[in-house]
Amino acid sequence: MAEKIDEKKVTPRSQDFAAWYNDLIIRAELADYSPVRGCIVFRPDGFAIWEHLRDELDRRIKKTGARNAYFPLFIPQSFLQKEAQHVEGFAPEVAVVTHGGGKELEEPLIVRPTSETIINHMFAQWIHSHRDLPLMVNQWCNVVRWELRTRPFLRTSEFLWQEGHTAHATREEAERETLTMLEVYRGFVEDYLAIPLVYGRKSAAERFPGAEETYTIEGLMPDGRALQCGTSHYLGQNFAKAFEIRFLDETNQLQHPHQTSWGVSTRLLGAIVMAHGDDQGLRLPPAVASTQVVIVPIWRKAEEGENVLVAARSIRHSLEQAGVRVRLDEREGLTPGFKFNDWEMRGVPLRIEIGPRDVAAGEVVMARRDIAGPPGKSKAPIAQAAERSTAVLAEIQKNLYQQAKAVADQNTRRFDDYGKLSAQMQGEGGGGLADIHWCGNPECETKIREETRATCRAIPLNQDGAPGKCIVCGESAKERAFFAKAY
Ligand code: ZN
Repeated sequence: MAEKIDEKKVTPRSQDFAAWYNDLIIRAELADYSPVRGCIVFRPDGFAIWEHLRDELDRRIKKTGARNAYFPLFIPQSFLQKEAQHVEGFAPEVAVVTHGGGKELEEPLIVRPTSETIINHMFAQWIHSHRDLPLMVNQWCNVVRWELRTRPFLRTSEFLWQEGHTAHATREEAERETLTMLEVYRGFVEDYLAIPLVYGRKSAAERFPGAEETYTIEGLMPDGRALQCGTSHYLGQNFAKAFEIRFLDETNQLQHPHQTSWGVSTRLLGAIVMAHGDDQGLRLPPAVASTQVVIVPIWRKAEEGENVLVAARSIRHSLEQAGVRVRLDEREGLTPGFKFNDWEMRGVPLRIEIGPRDVAAGEVVMARRDIAGPPGKSKAPIAQAAERSTAVLAEIQKNLYQQAKAVADQNTRRFDDYGKLSAQMQGEGGGGLADIHWCGNPECETKIREETRATCRAIPLNQDGAPGKCIVCGESAKERAFFAKAY
């Protein structure tokens, strides 16, 4: 089985983006298909990326004041019915448990597609006074949504995520929290995952079921399709009313709190693969790479090997001391060329090559994964290997963002003419991101969706305010919006 996978070539990205993506995930051993349709297995190399990502985001979430908790996987089916839009949005994709312990259950249980209902049921028991607010919890867990068409990481029936849920005394405070989390997500994805984003409000049609306002961060992938990378919802008092959450305010009046929820998922792994990968394999941002630097020792004659390995081990030690996640590839019987290809496929950001002549000269060769071929190579004195590695890793993190930004910018276009927008969306490739004036009328949005398959991805928060005409109906439009075909 392993041999079969080793022989398998990755489809060139330019030839078939979707096949390239699937091949890369298998070949780089991030994930594998499971016997259960629509579910995937996270292999250790894939899960390690999730762990780095999770740990950093968890730190940033806690800084905002939220604390982690854990709620049950099973939710009484009746809970879902309590918020009308919520049930309508989720019922079609909910998995239902009807039997347990060999008996039919009195009330079926749903497997959580998201946890608003059970968390708010508990909030109703914990919130009584304005002193109990704000209440801010976050949960890292799995959720299940019965998907018909699935893609590893991007859309799977079971996925991992974090979901934050907060309750506040006032509308202003809850709205502020919604935007705070949007900014936490934006900063995290751009800085840490090196993925450029657009962000803003969702249109009413694209809102989370039960939310009054949904905010989103969206990444434009190199194939010209947008990927929703995270959302933050202002829920108003909808769930508070449905679940009878009430508190006594400072004047002893009973009030419903204002609420938010926000989440990102293992979909971000798919974003990393697509935004940065190339035909040679993954290219991981150093921040999330489980191996940031790999040292490949090179020698032919056995007597040279000893010296090279001694030097390589001392370099590994100095990198470890500097806090770099480093691996020394001492595998025998494999050529340096095979090892180079192997680590490139796995996306290791920086490779250090060291052979007998380098040892004699007191230096190493450093090869960057973000810049192919000779331009990405440089020499460094062995004594400075750790210091130089740290500096180069920081450059790689920035450069991957710049490269992805250049591709996204190339695929972002302003349109004032509906015919041109339509031709662009129906042409080759994903169509890119269209920046257009839209009057806000759902009928115009529907026409765009039905005729071009592009949907409203985000309405930017900072508008230049320049007046314009809706690209569909020609009525005056105060705002511009981003439309694209989406994953
Ligand atoms: Zn219009």
